[in-house]
Amino acid sequence: MLIDSYDRVVDYIRVSVTERCNFRCQYCMPEKPFSWVPKENLLSFEDLFEFLKIAIDEGVKKIRITGGEPLLREDLDKFIKMIYDYKSDIDLAMTTNGYLLKDAAQKLKDAGLSRINISVDSLKPEIAQKIAGKDVLKNVLEGVEEALKVGLHVKINMVPMKGMNADEIVDILEYCKERNMTIRFIEYMENSHASADIKGMKSAELLAHIKEHYEFSDEGFDGHSPSHYFKMPDGYKFGLIEPYEDDFCKKCNRIRLTAEGYLIPCLYFDEAMSIKDFIQRGDIKNAALVLKEVVRTKPEKNRWSESSDEVSTRAFYETGG
Ligand code: SAM
Ligand code: SF4
Repeated sequence: MLIDSYDRVVDYIRVSVTERCNFRCQYCMPEKPFSWVPKENLLSFEDLFEFLKIAIDEGVKKIRITGGEPLLREDLDKFIKMIYDYKSDIDLAMTTNGYLLKDAAQKLKDAGLSRINISVDSLKPEIAQKIAGKDVLKNVLEGVEEALKVGLHVKINMVPMKGMNADEIVDILEYCKERNMTIRFIEYMENSHASADIKGMKSAELLAHIKEHYEFSDEGFDGHSPSHYFKMPDGYKFGLIEPYEDDFCKKCNRIRLTAEGYLIPCLYFDEAMSIKDFIQRGDIKNAALVLKEVVRTKPEKNRWSESSDEVSTRAFYETGG
């Protein structure tokens, strides 16, 4: 079992399979980075899988594939199947912008994927275009429908931004409610890569806005999920992800692996250790030691929760959010 210095059990890994993306979301990657990681520097799916086997053997129970945009990476379904065949009861999930999902959903489901989070920041074509940097809405919504059709368990992520999509919070909530999909509103996390003029909404403002339209009660947290849930009288639940709250990191159970093989203990900080050389040399023992060291050095909490002027320099498209 992997336990950090604050007695938190780490049993969840988010794997970014590529930093590349077909969107240029204003809160994440408004400009193409100066250079992409050369393809030859990426870990192959075989190498990533070798590492994940170690992590699973050490007690990891949940793996989320993310990016950049994970569906840009060829043969993703084969990678998912490798993991599923190794441990079929692993909680195998993915986060995607949905643009390429329509044609991929069935293959992903057949490979063993059970859950998918799709980012839908707007239901208005021109706002979706403004946020993502291109005309994306039709493809994204078709991707959502296909994911539901093939039987994936779908959640929707939205990052509300003032003057951008904040007036769509209720519309997106309704869209999700009608389809019985959970919506999670994610507070915009400031970072040095995002557009400078973004104004995120804090959870109190968001809840006050939703309260103007619905009754709901506070349901608290569901296990180790960072999502704070609220329940409406008809039983529908929506979630809030509140990294600015002081206790957000208290139950954090996750670490992150980048496509280049860096293990990252916390989304906020730049610290990372590479497992690449050990994995490529077949040195399982030392790769496992790096994993344990990264877990040991996991910080107690992020700095979004502190009132500091510092801004995180960690790129979401590298870590997978
Ligand atoms: N490309 C995929 C997508 O957009 O769903 C997966 C990677 S993306 C980095 C994962 C999640 O992080 C998305 O739901 C996205 O909205 C969220 N995200 C990215 N940058 C963020 C930021 N600055 N603040 C809050 N959430 C952010
Ligand atoms: Fe791409 Fe996802 Fe970042 Fe948007 S949030 S730029 S879709 S990685």
